[in-house]
Amino acid sequence: REGVRSFFRRNLFVLFTVAAVALGVMLGFALRPHNLSPRAIKYFSFPGELLMRMLQMLVLPLIISSLVTGISSLDGKASGKMGVRAVVYYMVTTLIAVFIGIVMVIIIRPGKGSRDSPVAASGNIEPVQAADAFLDLIRNMFPPNLVEACFKQYKTVYKKTVSTRNVTVALNLTDSLNASESAFSSVLHTIQETVVETVPVSGSSNGVNALGMVVFSICFGLVMGSMKQQGQALRDFFDSLNEAIMRLVAVIIWYAPVGILFLIAGKIVEMKDLVQVGGQLGMYTVTVIVGLLIHGLFVLPLLYFLVTRKNPFSFIGGLLQALITALGTSSSSATLPITFRCLEENNRVDKRVTRFVLPVGATINMDGTALYEAVAAIFIAQVNDMDLNFGQILTISITATAASIGAAGIPQAGLVTMVIVLTSVGLPTDDITLIIAVDWFLDRLRTTTNVLGDSLGAGIVEHLSRSELQGQNVELGNSVLEE
Ligand code: ASP
Repeated sequence: REGVRSFFRRNLFVLFTVAAVALGVMLGFALRPHNLSPRAIKYFSFPGELLMRMLQMLVLPLIISSLVTGISSLDGKASGKMGVRAVVYYMVTTLIAVFIGIVMVIIIRPGKGSRDSPVAASGNIEPVQAADAFLDLIRNMFPPNLVEACFKQYKTVYKKTVSTRNVTVALNLTDSLNASESAFSSVLHTIQETVVETVPVSGSSNGVNALGMVVFSICFGLVMGSMKQQGQALRDFFDSLNEAIMRLVAVIIWYAPVGILFLIAGKIVEMKDLVQVGGQLGMYTVTVIVGLLIHGLFVLPLLYFLVTRKNPFSFIGGLLQALITALGTSSSSATLPITFRCLEENNRVDKRVTRFVLPVGATINMDGTALYEAVAAIFIAQVNDMDLNFGQILTISITATAASIGAAGIPQAGLVTMVIVLTSVGLPTDDITLIIAVDWFLDRLRTTTNVLGDSLGAGIVEHLSRSELQGQNVELGNSVLEE
């Protein structure tokens, strides 16, 4: 009876969530003709906004408690092996995603033909140097202040500075009297020159520095795990914290369908007319979608099957709720609480694995974003009639990978890190405005792919780590549903 009840409860949620998406789409389209004012749309979407806020509220304690307990429950060797496997999986799948994106955009050539629309606005995108962005990524791994890292990230900003400097110039004087003998004589002369420079200065932007918290929690977990008896109180504390947070997730999950319904309906009411998205932009959208579908429905499941010999689609079935939440929220970190629940409750993935690899995955592993960045950069090159050589395409694959690691798991973060990819091959950053119109939509799809990649990764890492997991007999807290 228990089995039947839990099966029903599980599928009821999925059913509610799917129904919420369908209702949200219908409601959205039904309201569109009424031309609601932006203020009315804001009020209307309020239940959705609440869901986002609730999920985000849980992310920070969840990342910290799950990583700390996950890692401290394994011995150093086991967590090292698991970490290497996870990172190899992240890198391999991200590079495959970039490759698929590049192949698709070269085959489909969405940007061919003369340019549809002129640059909409120029000068509103900050100049970002790839080197500075890379340094920011590393800086964020080591937050100087943990409390500040909960709401601020380090971000280089650029400032125009005006200064003067003395330069020495040679003045050539013509000796008119004695022209034939010595044509010129030079006099050294010092003048002052005004220099206008854009220099990087330190700055910060709002939002959790998830990367910094992840790095800190991993180190803390490792140390705590090695502390034997002395560390027990801390282990118990973080384990209980994690359990309490997961119980809160179990409550919020009841509200999730309502939130998702309004998030989706609100976005549909608000979006621009789809008819405008024709031509090059339409083809670009199709290219990204086809790439994401190949990666998410073919490559990743195949990889899962090859490694585990289990049916990838029944695994994905258990993830449905997380995938729909990703679609609704456009944020892999806001989806994280639900992803945890789907993997642990529905797919029964070992908690020592999920607690370790999911928070890291949600922060750095973004296949969908990497694919999208590569497609977008090459699309912009095509629109500008720029032929990219092999070296430039290689540069795009590397920077797109880095940009996906650097992108935070929040809505449209990928659009911001795009600048790194564009500047690395000298493409005009202002042209990002060409793709903004469809980004909200593509963002949802790539976030769903990101969450799918993290989850299948957890399944693969669990399978590869079977022997180490059996060797360890540390019990983690019981889940809410098991009790
Ligand atoms: N919204 C994406 C995510 O949270 C990141 C992106 O903008 O690509 O995974």
